Amino acid sequence: MTKILTEIKVGRNSLLKYEKFIKADLRKKILAESEGLKGVSVVHINSTACGGGVAELLQSQIPLERGLGIDSHWVVINGDKEDMFFTITKKIHNLLQGEKGTLTENEKKLYLRHNKRAFPELKKILKKIKPDIVVIHDPQPLPLVGAIPRGIKVVFRLHIDISAPNARALNFIKPFITEFNRIVVSNPLYRPEWFPKEKTDIIYPAIDPLLPKNKILSRAAVRQLAKKYGINPDDKIVSQVSRFDPWKDPVGVIKAFNIARKKIAGLKLILIGSVADDDPESKEIYAEVKDFSNGDPDILLITKKDNTLVNVIQSASGAVLQKSLREGFGLTVTEAMWKGKAVIGGDTIGIASQIEDGKNGFLVSSIKRAGEAIIKLVGNPKLAKKMGAAARKTVQEKFLTPAMVLEHLKLYSKLLK
Ligand code: UDP
Repeated sequence: MTKILTEIKVGRNSLLKYEKFIKADLRKKILAESEGLKGVSVVHINSTACGGGVAELLQSQIPLERGLGIDSHWVVINGDKEDMFFTITKKIHNLLQGEKGTLTENEKKLYLRHNKRAFPELKKILKKIKPDIVVIHDPQPLPLVGAIPRGIKVVFRLHIDISAPNARALNFIKPFITEFNRIVVSNPLYRPEWFPKEKTDIIYPAIDPLLPKNKILSRAAVRQLAKKYGINPDDKIVSQVSRFDPWKDPVGVIKAFNIARKKIAGLKLILIGSVADDDPESKEIYAEVKDFSNGDPDILLITKKDNTLVNVIQSASGAVLQKSLREGFGLTVTEAMWKGKAVIGGDTIGIASQIEDGKNGFLVSSIKRAGEAIIKLVGNPKLAKKMGAAARKTVQEKFLTPAMVLEHLKLYSKLLK
């Protein structure tokens, strides 16, 4: 039988490598906090090692934790052959973000059964690693908490916006969440009032400046790479990097682009979204977007997974959009801001924690406003540059991996006290 859980191999990364990006004070705090945690063992469990924000966070967080002397591990829960599990967990995700609907009894049963089947595998892994702490990320592997022996501290790390959840879906997963020692959410507004406040932490996600995706490229390098990828660097480009997902509103992006192109001749739109393993819905949405764009030669749709291409597209854009209707945080926003781009973001809780409207980007709640913001930024490169510089400063100060890791170190210390 194929395994349900996979252990992902992860290396070590040194804090020294981040030195030029962070203040000395942060470095000192990280070193001091990690001192008391040497040899502590942590297992992170999520649902994919590739694609989507959580995988993006863990691929940087875990190696840095290891580099600081913490024995951190990564375990992934796989889907089933028929993709039923991830279809159901995507539905749970959508319901928790406020979509209408109900989980059928059969869906609940399959979700629980798949997790239960992984219990023996998890027990074996835990016996081998002997962790002090297990962190379960998001609802997919949530019921695995039932397989974790007493004595190991458990944390539930929820990455999505649950400020206005579907009550029935929330009630379904609540009994699992209440088993955790602590929970972590990405924004004070996601703090569930039914979980003890003193056991809830707020940790903002962060991006890794060392990744190829976030490396700052010179103008010449952007031009050269763009050409290599078949993109004309002299074009006026607007883009959105996102999974093809209804919450990311790709059709809304095309509509906003259609408004802006009336004022800006030759404007091009690039939508890039690789398909994540744990997101079967994306194929359907991609087809919808393709249909809507109707072979328009000025709209480029890309599904290739290529981090350098993501970087080049964001760097070459006159305006970057993230027109989400709900967003837990929105790493794509952080990534573009880091590259000195003023992002046009949907006015959601996650994006509003990064963008201050009119200062380092724009917060929009309609297609019309999104279209106007594109015209403003692409039509006025000076303004785009000024706001982009403010955007980069925001990320530098608040949203780089070391700052997020420090918050995790504090969390681990609290748990083991
Ligand atoms: N991403 C990517 N290629 C794509 C689309 C997305 O590498 O074609 C990455 C993106 O750069 C970001 C992550 O996937 O790091 C998405 O995280 P975000 O928090 O924006 O959204 P999520 O997918 O978790 O809802």
